[in-house]
Amino acid sequence: MHPLIEKVKNAGVVGAGGAGFPAHTKYAATVDTILANGAECEPLLYKDKELMRVFPEEVKKGIELVAGAVGAQRRILGIKAKNKEIIGQFRGLFGGTGIEIFEMGDYYPAGDEYVLVYEATGRLIPYGGYPVNIGCVVSNVETLLNVTLANLGVPVTEKFITVTGAVKKPVTLKVPIGTPISDLLTFAGGPSVSGDVAVLDGGAMMGKLVTDLSLPVTKTSGGYIVLPANHYLIRRRNQSIPEMKRIGQSACDQCTYCTEFCPRYLLGYEIEPHKVMRSLGFAGEKDDYWGRFAVNCCECNLCSLFACPEELDPKQACVRSKTNIRLKNLAYSPPDRPLKAHPMQAHRKISISRLTRKLGLVQYDVHADYVEESIKPSKVTIPLKQHLGAPAEPVVKVGESVTIGQLIGKIPEGALGAAIHASINGIVTKVGNDITIEAQ
Ligand code: SF4
Ligand code: SF4
Repeated sequence: MHPLIEKVKNAGVVGAGGAGFPAHTKYAATVDTILANGAECEPLLYKDKELMRVFPEEVKKGIELVAGAVGAQRRILGIKAKNKEIIGQFRGLFGGTGIEIFEMGDYYPAGDEYVLVYEATGRLIPYGGYPVNIGCVVSNVETLLNVTLANLGVPVTEKFITVTGAVKKPVTLKVPIGTPISDLLTFAGGPSVSGDVAVLDGGAMMGKLVTDLSLPVTKTSGGYIVLPANHYLIRRRNQSIPEMKRIGQSACDQCTYCTEFCPRYLLGYEIEPHKVMRSLGFAGEKDDYWGRFAVNCCECNLCSLFACPEELDPKQACVRSKTNIRLKNLAYSPPDRPLKAHPMQAHRKISISRLTRKLGLVQYDVHADYVEESIKPSKVTIPLKQHLGAPAEPVVKVGESVTIGQLIGKIPEGALGAAIHASINGIVTKVGNDITIEAQ
């Protein structure tokens, strides 16, 4: 194993952009190109932008380290052109290194790795594949910062987070992993609106509704958006699958807007959410037949939250069909034609400003600056599974004293997984699916 990859494995580095893929497994490859993903595209979130502004040397070092480990000659940072000041900073840092800067438009979902790889290299990831299948490794900029720290022997114990929306002080900060979400909301000054609020974890488009604010920040958390409980986005998230199915099967007029704006369809993949909507009216074979048009859905939510004029939920219909296909173990073969982007692909990108308006988020669209000050939680709850693969195996017992950075969960023998470390100094008070540490 390459020495860097060993260090990355020991440090518990996983994809910080949301996927949580163990980085040491991703980097065990030989490719020609590494792409640093700084194309943050969820409205209101600023954690990648702020991280690049404050820690550019660490990001650059991470690019160089990973490029060395995977043998990549070509190194590219994908970043939105609107971040002019940060691009200027990187241009200075990258001088003479050959690292390229690929400037992207301010659209959604620029940070999707299928989109980023295509835009930056002109290559299309094969059906069901990964960037490595076409000679690329893609890593989020926070993951690369964690690689730089791992190289110095520092494990992943902190997470960059934006807390924004209906809070008094929108902010981006770095917190110990395992910190309760409620502590972050308090740090951001609490709600700025009266009445009930709800929280989206991970962004307005792809984030999930959080119902329990005692849940912890994990290695894949990216941001928390607080909204009034009756906000459009919260109402949409609260719709049940039976309700979605009932309304969808009667109200969908097959206008095809959902398909015409789908970023994966525009890249040329077989994905047609309007056809998936037809599955809602059937059971059995016809349900399965129309469901196949959902297989390549990345769940970006653009069809449901932007494209559909009837406010139907084709994304959720895709999720339903994909679940059906998985449970029934149905075979899927991609169409027998070369992958080729749609001629309108370059012209149907949805700008963030348009999306922000459509989502009813304009009033919350304020810059969430990074602050050095952080939270000192009295207790952290660290899940043993914060990544793809098997949960880590605990290596500490109740009553044991631990210090920041100490290994508390190891990768099970021979499994895909990631190591877990203590994020505060304290005493272990519970060991189960999570490890609880109370501060000393
Ligand atoms: S955009 Fe809405 S109404 Fe039109 S086909 Fe898609 S789901 Fe149906
Ligand atoms: S969520 Fe909708 S727009 Fe996004 S990939 Fe799936 S079908 Fe396409």
